Amino acid sequence: MKKMLQVLIVVILLALVGAIIFKMVSGKSARLENRPIKVTKSVTEKVVEESSEKVQPSTSSKDETEKPEPKWVKSDTPIKFPILMYHHIADVVGGNTLFVPADEFKMEMTALKNAGYYTLSPEEAYRVLTTNEKPADKIVWITFDDGYKNAHDTAMPILTELGMKGSFFIITGMVGNEDKMADDGLLALKSNPLMSIGSHTVNHPDLEYSSNEAVNTELIDSKKYLDNLLHQNTSVICYPAGRYNAQTGALAEAAGYKLGLTTHPGFASSADGLFALNRVRVAYGQNEASFMALIGNQ
Ligand SMILES: [Zn+2]
Repeated sequence: MKKMLQVLIVVILLALVGAIIFKMVSGKSARLENRPIKVTKSVTEKVVEESSEKVQPSTSSKDETEKPEPKWVKSDTPIKFPILMYHHIADVVGGNTLFVPADEFKMEMTALKNAGYYTLSPEEAYRVLTTNEKPADKIVWITFDDGYKNAHDTAMPILTELGMKGSFFIITGMVGNEDKMADDGLLALKSNPLMSIGSHTVNHPDLEYSSNEAVNTELIDSKKYLDNLLHQNTSVICYPAGRYNAQTGALAEAAGYKLGLTTHPGFASSADGLFALNRVRVAYGQNEASFMALIGNQ
């Protein structure tokens, strides 16, 4: 009995010693585990710092959008200005001139900015054309037809970084198709204060040879779609393939539009009529000099 008691005491003592050793070892290993955690934390902090640095440019471009209202100056002579026409901002596929590679587009936008060009919103373009006053000596309106995904993915970030405005013309019956933006892309564009969205009809038909009834449906339904989705009063119609006839402008005005864009080459001028504005097509393969010559700045 006495021996059993001795054994029991030894067992309890061993258990106690074991517990103390286990606590010491596990405490040490926990401290060891702390080390990699600490390292991970400092790495995380560094990543956050870097990403906040990357955020800087968009913050500074945001500041530019918050610049005080530009001073509008009346011109003695009728104002003419380039409306640039782009489609895809992406690597050229099969020699298709509707494509302009991203680096080329960025070079062109940077050249405009460096030359002191002011980019117009649709509302500002309307004011220029109806009052013959402008917000800067050099003005340009940058437009994109067809609503391709790369307009959202590639063109918008480049414009935003440079603090420049862009206008995108959407074929509302093709929203979400293949390479076209879906509603979420349109909403993202709309939420960017530098970007605007206009109509490029519902089905991209040839308006020149469509019946007035069909033209009306294209004009009214596409406007309704954009007005409802984006909570805006869509004011610009861009004619598919630039095709229109003598009645198109009047029908567009009756449908609630204020400006109509063609693909007829040249500078925009109120002398052509607000619903028959020329544009400057920008094909790929430009260098800075040829691009600036294209828009009359040499
Ligand atoms: Zn088109």
